[in-house]
Amino acid sequence: MRQRTIKDKVRIEGIGIHTGERTRITLHPADENTGVRFLRKGVYIPASPDHVVGTFLSTDLGCGSVTVKTVEHLLATLHLLRITNTVIEVEGGCEIPIMDGSAYAFYSELKGLVVDQTEETEPFSVTGKVRVSSGKASIEAEPCSCFEITYEGVFKGCLGEQRFTFRGNAEDVILARTFCFDEDIEFIRSKGLGRGGSLDNTLVIGRNGVYNREGLRYENEPARHKVLDLIGDLYLLGAPFRGRVVSRGGGHTLNYMFVKKIHRASKLGLESLRG
Ligand code: ZN
Repeated sequence: MRQRTIKDKVRIEGIGIHTGERTRITLHPADENTGVRFLRKGVYIPASPDHVVGTFLSTDLGCGSVTVKTVEHLLATLHLLRITNTVIEVEGGCEIPIMDGSAYAFYSELKGLVVDQTEETEPFSVTGKVRVSSGKASIEAEPCSCFEITYEGVFKGCLGEQRFTFRGNAEDVILARTFCFDEDIEFIRSKGLGRGGSLDNTLVIGRNGVYNREGLRYENEPARHKVLDLIGDLYLLGAPFRGRVVSRGGGHTLNYMFVKKIHRASKLGLESLRG
């Protein structure tokens, strides 16, 4: 498949869900073989597993003292549109804006601007069965020429068991919003996070239902959002992903463990990594 970039720069502004700061991001066209890179305070931060500096409630990248927070929904959009090369300039705050909690704003801004470049890119293919786990949560993958991700989980509050399978159609996941549980808000705030969170950008779930007046966009919106997050985290591999993945209760930390494992295996040329 051809490498891709965007034909014009795009500017998007909004607040960060964790910092509450107003941030402006500008996505620029970029040359072939330069990849996806964030640019903040004059420092380029490649979207790669080697630059992950945090996975607690968001995926954060950094280089030295310069960090960019909550990159996952934007990376998911780039992955879904197969944009291989772009520079994302981050100004004002350090956090990618949360918008409405989903990837919709990024997707709709970028969709019409995608252009093929001359050089090819190889997809990142899973070459053997891979598994990572932490407590009851696990992520398993097997080789497939498809891009298929299933999320299964038992959620708190009114949600119960949820399941969703993505089979390559971006529209199935771009509208799914960030969510949290009412009983966790105090803890999240005590960690200095969630400062920009509100019902305008977060689905808040309680024991008896959803706080947001418009309700859920899909009955399994949280499971779809978990898939969106994983699509974003997988793009740290630097190429469109090929394989069949099942996440059972995973989050950013486990996603990162998974990405690190297959990234390392690909570098070592290992056929299979089980366990
Ligand atoms: Zn998310």
